[in-house]
Amino acid sequence: MSTHTTAPSPLKTLFLSSPDVMQIIRRLGVRSCLADMAEMIQQDYLRWHDFDKSKRLAIYSDHGVIELMPIADASHYSFKYVNGHPGNTRRGLPTVMALGALSDTDTGFVRMLSELTFTTALRTAATSAMAARALARPDSDCMALIGSGAQGEFQALAFYYLLGIRRLQVFDIDRAAAEKLEHNLRAAGLDKTCLDIVVCESAEQALHGADIVTTATADQSQARVFDAVRVEPGMHLNAVGGDSPGKTELDPLVLQSGRVFVEFEPQTRIEGEIQQMPGNFPVTALWQVLAGNAPGRQSADQVTIFDSVGFALEDFSALRFMYDKAQELGLGVPVSIMPTLSNPKDLFGSLGLRDIATDAVSAAEQ
Ligand code: NAD
Repeated sequence: MSTHTTAPSPLKTLFLSSPDVMQIIRRLGVRSCLADMAEMIQQDYLRWHDFDKSKRLAIYSDHGVIELMPIADASHYSFKYVNGHPGNTRRGLPTVMALGALSDTDTGFVRMLSELTFTTALRTAATSAMAARALARPDSDCMALIGSGAQGEFQALAFYYLLGIRRLQVFDIDRAAAEKLEHNLRAAGLDKTCLDIVVCESAEQALHGADIVTTATADQSQARVFDAVRVEPGMHLNAVGGDSPGKTELDPLVLQSGRVFVEFEPQTRIEGEIQQMPGNFPVTALWQVLAGNAPGRQSADQVTIFDSVGFALEDFSALRFMYDKAQELGLGVPVSIMPTLSNPKDLFGSLGLRDIATDAVSAAEQ
């Protein structure tokens, strides 16, 4: 006889939709979301050895990539499903869309299923700013932004709030995308006294006088989004858009002009800007800089390059952030993804089926 005779209290999975995450961002504010997420990501990077890490699993097609990104520590497991399809915007879909799950490591029970499209934009921008805080010159106040699609405003705001950027020089091959960014930031209340925004005619114009250069373009090619000669001593490059084999943004000469920092080297060697370089091209792990084990910027003249591809650890932090905030704000819907069983061995019995002999006869007769 079963020892599990009392019905357990139903364990529910929190389902967090895009509208729920929009509510979280609106209610907490973008600044606080970016700052708190950057802090959680940094704290998790400082626990590097606590994590079971692997490079993401990618399926490539002619039009893009679909990736699975798992990671776990002793208490939580998470994965993200994310695509990257640069042609999607022509079909009315975002280039990047994502969802993810957060589970208990010791039971596998899924605590939360969540949208991760907004969350990815926040976590990518928070990670960029976290890296730049460690690598850019502290007096940086002007950023060039090359590519101002879905990630653009989030990147701009992360550098405005967390780095003190006061001038933004934007270039996008689609001028309407650059104007959209300016319009959105103005509509959100950033006037010219807060942030000077200049929509530029070329990437080279955008780079002129910039302390930080963020590239967030989407193109399924080995692109050179600006001429390497435009890189000035002391610049920090935040290269976000090159994140897949055959999809890069920087001229190899740019990579040779400075020191390159990476999230998780085995993954970045395949997906990042450094896929263009020999396998022994020197890189520094970002977590080692954050932990004080390796130098970041060594002089005001040094060029630093964050070769960002996006690592599962950042989504792990972001999912935990969203889970905590959803609980605090009472957002999300508890759903029964996993069955609640009075006897966990009696999966079949919980169906409560009757007359299955008759069912089988009628199915055979059809
Ligand atoms: P998006 O398609 O919404 O925007 C990309 C923009 O880049 C478009 O407006 C396009 O016109 C512009 N563009 C393309 N080529 C250009 C060029 N040569 N010069 C200037 N502008 C150019 O895409 P998104 O969601 O903003 O993502 C941007 C990139 O960031 C993608 O490649 C995506 O894969 C990558 N990404 C990386 C991370 C990460 O963690 N590193 C996270 C999210 C997205």
